[in-house]
Amino acid sequence: MDRATSPPSHTAGSTPYKNLDELRMENSLLRARLEDLLDQAHRNQHIMARHQRFDLKLISASHFEELISCIFSGLAETPELDMLTLILVDQRSHLQQMLADLKVDLHTFPHLLFVSSEQDIEPYITENGIPSLGKYERSLHQELFSSGEKEPASIAIIPLWRQDRLIGCLNLGSFKPDRFLSSMATDFIQRLGSIIAICLENVLNNQRLTYIGLTDPLTNISNRRYVEQRALEEIARAQRQQYGIACLYLDIDFFKKINDQHGHQGGDDVLCEVARRIKAELRLSDTLGRFGGEEFVVLLINANVQDAILVAERIRQSIAGKIFQLSDACQCQTTISIGISTIHERANTGDAATLAREMLLRADRALYEAKNTGRNRYAINL
Ligand code: GH3
Ligand code: MG
Ligand code: MG
Repeated sequence: MDRATSPPSHTAGSTPYKNLDELRMENSLLRARLEDLLDQAHRNQHIMARHQRFDLKLISASHFEELISCIFSGLAETPELDMLTLILVDQRSHLQQMLADLKVDLHTFPHLLFVSSEQDIEPYITENGIPSLGKYERSLHQELFSSGEKEPASIAIIPLWRQDRLIGCLNLGSFKPDRFLSSMATDFIQRLGSIIAICLENVLNNQRLTYIGLTDPLTNISNRRYVEQRALEEIARAQRQQYGIACLYLDIDFFKKINDQHGHQGGDDVLCEVARRIKAELRLSDTLGRFGGEEFVVLLINANVQDAILVAERIRQSIAGKIFQLSDACQCQTTISIGISTIHERANTGDAATLAREMLLRADRALYEAKNTGRNRYAINL
C-alpha cells in the first residue's frame, strides 16, 4: 500500500486542509457520482446486450417475412420510438411481384412501403449519405410516415446502402421533440442501417434463388416442381379446412404446327401469351404452372367441379377467341384442350402425396379424352 505523503508546508493566509465535514461531503459526492457511473455502465451493458440479441435475430432471419417482422418487433421495444416505417426501392414492382408469387402476404406489413426508384427517396437522404436526425416537417416528411395516424415530432431517417446503391430507408419517429436531435451522434443508427441493409440483401437473394428454382424462365409462371410442391400443401390445407380442390391439365392443340409455321420464336410467343391468358382467368389463391412443353396445370383452391368447368370454359374461350400477335409481326390462332379432375372435400383423406399424384393422373386422362373427342374442349375425370 502507498504511504501517505507528507502535507505541503503551511503558508500564511491559506487553508491547505479541508475540515472533516468538507471531506465527508466531498466523499459522499464522489460516492454518488461513482454510483451514477456504475448505474450508467449497467444500463449501457443492458442496452448493448439487447442490441446484440437484436443483431443476432436479424442475421439469423432466413425469409423476407421473418426479417421484416423481426425489424418491426425488435425496434418497437426502443424507448420513445412511436412510429416506424421501412421503405424499399422496387423498380418495376419486380420485388413485390416475386414476393406475391412466393405467397408472401405483404398486407401483414402496413408500415412496409415501396417506391419505384432511388430518386423517390433521395430528397430525404443527406449529401454524405449518413442518417439524418431532427425535427419532423410535414411538408417535407409526410410521405415517409403516411401510414401513421398521428405525426411524429422528431425523426431519424436511416438510409440503407448496399455497394453504393440506395436500397431503401428506415424511418423512425417519436412524439418527443428532443428524441432525435440533429446534434446527436449517428454512429449507432448508422450501424443499425448497415446491418439491416446487409440482412435485407441476403434474404432477398435467398428468395430470388428459391423463386428462380420454382419459376419457368420462358413464361415467368411457376414450374412443375413448384406446382407439385404446392399441390401437396394445398391438399393438406384443404383436408384441415375441409374444402374441395380442382385440377386442370391444359395442352395447346397442334402446337407443333405453330412451331413449323412460325419458327421456335413464334411458338415461344404463343406459350407466353397462353400463360398470360390462363393467369388472367384465375384468382390470386389459385396456382398455375408450366408442366413442360406446351402443357400447363392449374390448381383451383376451394373449388368443386362446377367451378372448375366455369374456369376451364373461360380459359378455352380466351385462347380460341382472340388472335395471337407474334413478335415478328405475324399473327396466328390456336386452341387448347383441358382435362378436369377434383378432390371432393369428403374424399380428401389419406396421404397428400398419393392424392396429388392421382388427381394429376385423372386430369391427364381427361385431357387425353378431350384430345380424342375433338380438341378445343374440356373433359372431366372425377
Ligand atoms: P396435340 O394437339 O396432340 O397436343 O398436338 P401438339 O402438336 O400440340 O403436340 P406434340 O406433343 O406433338 O408437340 C408439342 C410440340 O411442342 C413439340 C415441341 O417441339 C414443342 N415444344 C416443346 N417445348 C417447347 C418450347 O419451349 N418452345 C417451343 N417453341 N416449342 C416447344
Ligand atoms: Mg403435349
Ligand atoms: Mg399439344
